Amino acid sequence: MTVHQNFIAGDWVGGGDVNRNINPSDLSDVVGEYARADAGQAGQAVAAAAAAAPAWGRSTPQARFDALDAIGTEILARREELGRLLSREEGKTLPEGIGEAARAGQIFKFFAGEALRQTGDVVASVRPGIEAAVTREPLGVVGIITPWNFPIAIPAWKIAPALAHGNCVVFKPADLVPGCGWALAEIISRAGLPAGVFNLVMGSGAVVGDAILNGPAVAGVSFTGSVDTGRKVAAACVGRGAKFQLEMGGKNPFVVLDDADLGTAVECAVNGAFFSTGQRCTASSRLIVTEGIHDRFVAAVVERLNALVVDDALKDGTHIGPVVDQRQLDQDLSYLEIGTGEGAKLACGGERLQRATEGFYLSPALFTETDNAMRINREEIFGPVASVIRVKDYDEALAVANDTDFGLSSGIATTSLKHAAHFRRNAEAGMVMVNLPTAGVDYHVPFGGRKGSSYGAREQGSYAAEFYTTVKTAYTFAG
Ligand code: NAD
Repeated sequence: MTVHQNFIAGDWVGGGDVNRNINPSDLSDVVGEYARADAGQAGQAVAAAAAAAPAWGRSTPQARFDALDAIGTEILARREELGRLLSREEGKTLPEGIGEAARAGQIFKFFAGEALRQTGDVVASVRPGIEAAVTREPLGVVGIITPWNFPIAIPAWKIAPALAHGNCVVFKPADLVPGCGWALAEIISRAGLPAGVFNLVMGSGAVVGDAILNGPAVAGVSFTGSVDTGRKVAAACVGRGAKFQLEMGGKNPFVVLDDADLGTAVECAVNGAFFSTGQRCTASSRLIVTEGIHDRFVAAVVERLNALVVDDALKDGTHIGPVVDQRQLDQDLSYLEIGTGEGAKLACGGERLQRATEGFYLSPALFTETDNAMRINREEIFGPVASVIRVKDYDEALAVANDTDFGLSSGIATTSLKHAAHFRRNAEAGMVMVNLPTAGVDYHVPFGGRKGSSYGAREQGSYAAEFYTTVKTAYTFAG
């Protein structure tokens, strides 16, 4: 098997250690072998990016557009193949994998356009004879560190704006899913970017991630991952005065009111909580349901969950693929025990399943009779496990929805315009969904949250410029 290499200063280079990428649907299937960079190579990638930064920072919008547009075109043309690779290494179903790959292509297309929309402000000075101009400039070198659960979309929504705004990139994908990161890097490597503008360094967080965080030339770090790692990123960046943005966990509420359309509420809850095996930061793991609809809602969700097919991610007809790895599976199983120990009732699922191949299969689990103080409702589980919390009315539902350390996405199922409007205004979350699942967003508008979920500037859309640029105010005395 050929070992997929790192891309540093325009060259493909081997690493020390080799990472075997295993298919979670079939543990006998090795997706590929990937070279892990060492700290020295990560340092070389940072140095190459720093050397390329001045020229790339002055590159024309046309050059940036051409590169990003070509990358987007190729990803879209290869969406089926890339989606298959994604599903094979991460365990999302094939339609979800293809959808994510297509989204990565659309993101590059969007940011190709953003490269052309580089604007500023010319402002009348308060002093005579002076012109003030406000413009945006690149940060320089940006470190990009991504999680395993969206192996192509998250890298795309960080790399594309970084390049569009004239930055050089050192990218580290999650060690668990290097395949999509490598495939994306291979496409980027042929897009005509000067050597050093884009670098791929695969490997562990403790070695490669740490070298990026502490690389003196890295002016900004864009991170998505867990709260614990996010805190380390923050500490390292604050310590040396680097800019950073963090997208972290969620414990997203989905409120179902008595007046909801039951079919809509059930579809939103099942999709939001369990699709992609519940491994989404926007998953609705807390289903907050008013008492008039509670029993009907629970019965309908259980019926729907029992009909879902949990199987090989690549198989036709699979609704839910496997959990990503043994560690995540152990975490899911331990929260199932914690929930039962706390007095929650397991209405369905939570069983370890055997399929034709050995994989990390778990049936979607629904807890009922839970309250918001339980650990299963406070801590992110990140698996196919959700809880129903029964509440009296809308006011209590809103209070419970907001009673959390997180604030990424928040949803409601209702036919009441009054409650929908009130919820949109008062949900303490970066994203609010009305009669839609908490997960599933557009690629051209801001993405991000509040409280423990996010820190720093928003990602995606034109708001991405906030992170990937620094503002300059220039005064000219024209006499
Ligand atoms: P993680 O924190 O374990 O890893 C994320 C990345 O950080 C990986 O590339 C990892 O190698 C790297 N890393 C780990 N230790 C590091 C260190 N000391 N220094 C530098 N880098 C280090 O997270 P994960 O398990 O890959 O992803 C799951 C988490 O990501 C969940 O908590 C989920 O909610 C979150 N997530 C959030 C969003 C969002 O936008 N809010 C999106 C997707 C996933």
